[in-house]
Amino acid sequence: MSSYDLIVVGGGPGGSAAAKEAADAGLKTIVFERGRFCGEKNSSGFGLSPKAARDFEYIKELDLPSLWPTKFGVMHIVQPQPSNADRMTWGLTPPRRNSYPQASEYMVQMMYRPEFDQWMMEKATSAGAELKLTALINNVIREGEQVVGVVDHEGHQYRAPVVIAADGARSLVAQKAGLRKKWDKDQVTVLATLDFEADPERIAEYCGDTNVHIFMGPDRGGYVTITRTGFHIGSRPAKTLLDEVDAGRNLSSTSVMDNARLDFVQRLIKATRAKPREFQLTHLPWLKKFNERIYTGGLMLTGDAAGVPEPFMAEGVWQAMYSSRLAAQTAVRAHKDKDFSKAYFKQYMEELKASPVGVDFTAGTVLRDFFSEWTSQTFYDLFDNVADAMFYGMLTMAEPHAQGMMRVPGIVVDMIPQLLFLARYYFPITEEASREKTANFMAGMRAMVPLIKSMMPPAAGGK
Ligand SMILES: Cc1cc2nc3c(=O)[nH]c(=O)nc-3n(C[C@H](O)[C@H](O)[C@H](O)COP(=O)(O)OP(=O)(O)OC[C@H]3O[C@@H](n4cnc5c(N)ncnc54)[C@H](O)[C@@H]3O)c2cc1C
Repeated sequence: MSSYDLIVVGGGPGGSAAAKEAADAGLKTIVFERGRFCGEKNSSGFGLSPKAARDFEYIKELDLPSLWPTKFGVMHIVQPQPSNADRMTWGLTPPRRNSYPQASEYMVQMMYRPEFDQWMMEKATSAGAELKLTALINNVIREGEQVVGVVDHEGHQYRAPVVIAADGARSLVAQKAGLRKKWDKDQVTVLATLDFEADPERIAEYCGDTNVHIFMGPDRGGYVTITRTGFHIGSRPAKTLLDEVDAGRNLSSTSVMDNARLDFVQRLIKATRAKPREFQLTHLPWLKKFNERIYTGGLMLTGDAAGVPEPFMAEGVWQAMYSSRLAAQTAVRAHKDKDFSKAYFKQYMEELKASPVGVDFTAGTVLRDFFSEWTSQTFYDLFDNVADAMFYGMLTMAEPHAQGMMRVPGIVVDMIPQLLFLARYYFPITEEASREKTANFMAGMRAMVPLIKSMMPPAAGGK
């Protein structure tokens, strides 16, 4: 039996971030990954949000063949089926108002996920962590309530006072440690992606500076994200597994296939001589509220295993890295304090809940429901009206301009139901974040009441 200070299960971004942090702090760390290489089992292309470079100094060193920071994107408002053409398109650039520099430089960094996962693990092993590949952990060793190690598929036992389970959405470790059974059907989604390898020169020539395309239309939608060496087609905003069961089919796979037929996507495939590389169907936790059952004696869950992908678009890599680093820091402190109890590891959960990762769950189900609405008829109608106000009202050459412009107020009135629909989501989502500001504003208004009263003429018949 081998002994370590820290065992990390899973060689995804969460596992590597934990292992690097712990190894840097001097803990004897081992990582177990079931794949033949890190990233073998993960979704193919992805966008790393600028939060990663803000929070992890080493992310600034990223240099991969597929890497392409997104400075330009296009949103396609697609006509209702069976048409495959756009109704309008809208260029996207990083917003001008930002709270840190990277967020103004790019929207995300697109890359091929296996390259990223291997790069991340290289950071951990360079810091001194040991990596064991093709090692499936299928049980934990327990002493009473305390987890004190893991067992691999060949029955080898490994012991450590702290285990970090970064073993993804279906976390076997979480289940074996009794922290949960499988996710409920309304806590998880299944996402399909179709990945293509393509000629880098043709990608550069055809795509120019634009490497993200988002599609939205009534009951359809999805995205194409493009790296320097390929691209992948994703599905419409997620539905939970429960919706899939109700529908009796995998909605995400159907959506990806529909997207592959879009006019723009067909042109991209032909122009870049793309060849299909992978089709993947991947589980992703998509929780309504922050999951507190992420620790017990000797064990902390991180990343997808903990259910931390944010509940709107289900971004999860930065969340995996953030939660894993926090878990590793807790492990380092636990070694110093020589306390590996359940009570001690509660601080990990509490810190994570209070962090930006946890704060994203404050609005509960509203965020998740809002995202599903992006492919509703109401959203389409909103853009349809915007397009008409612009092109039928302002830029028309079909009629005298004054005549076109006179239609604009009517179009704006038509948009009122759609704006009210947006408000139904907007206010509950921002309520928590703006509570303090609203309270200050209301206090200011209340202070002005006597002044306003003193300025008002006395009521008729009053003294
Ligand atoms: C289609 C799709 C698109 C996405 N796009 C984005 C995006 O653009 N940006 C973003 O930030 N997030 C995205 N996500 C979410 C993101 O992929 C996950 O949240 C993220 O990968 C979580 O990282 P992790 O390290 O927690 O888990 P994972 O990346 O799942 O890593 C877990 C690792 O553990 C290994 N493992 C599992 N079980 C065991 C075991 N028993 N023993 C040993 N090893 C094991 C696996 O092989 C894997 O390598 C997307 C997800 C999907 C499904």
